[in-house]
Amino acid sequence: METILVSACLLGENCKYDGGNNYLKKSEELKSLCDIILICPETFGGLKTPRLPSEIKNGRVINSKNKDVTNNFYDGAYMTLAIAKENHVRYALLKERSPSCGVHQIYDGTFTSKKIEGMGITSKLLKENNIKVFSEDEIDELILILKKSI
Ligand code: SF4
Repeated sequence: METILVSACLLGENCKYDGGNNYLKKSEELKSLCDIILICPETFGGLKTPRLPSEIKNGRVINSKNKDVTNNFYDGAYMTLAIAKENHVRYALLKERSPSCGVHQIYDGTFTSKKIEGMGITSKLLKENNIKVFSEDEIDELILILKKSI
């Protein structure tokens, strides 16, 4: 059985910046198809919940009060990568648009809800290390791969 990483907020953990989650019922289907390791790179990087929202701008991660939190985001990303390597992880299901976990889209750094093409800090690092990253919108594709691997 594969072991995969899943953004913890997708499975209902209240680790989102505002203290809530991004629960996706469909992600429950993964439980019978693989072993799941829940990750929250922002928490791993030492940020508390709730916390201020952050966005990526010019390669740095800045929170809504203009504090540079880039180091926290990279600490969390490298911790996530270490966990992935230790567990021979090949796939990850990650929360779209997050500055950590976004797979195809992120916010543009102006805190005006404007989305642009781009990846979160953790998603990018995982991809660079040959881990295939899926957004929650691509969960069906991931489920298909996992079904074939059983
Ligand atoms: Fe969810 Fe990722 Fe944000 Fe954590 S860092 S709350 S796992 S989107």
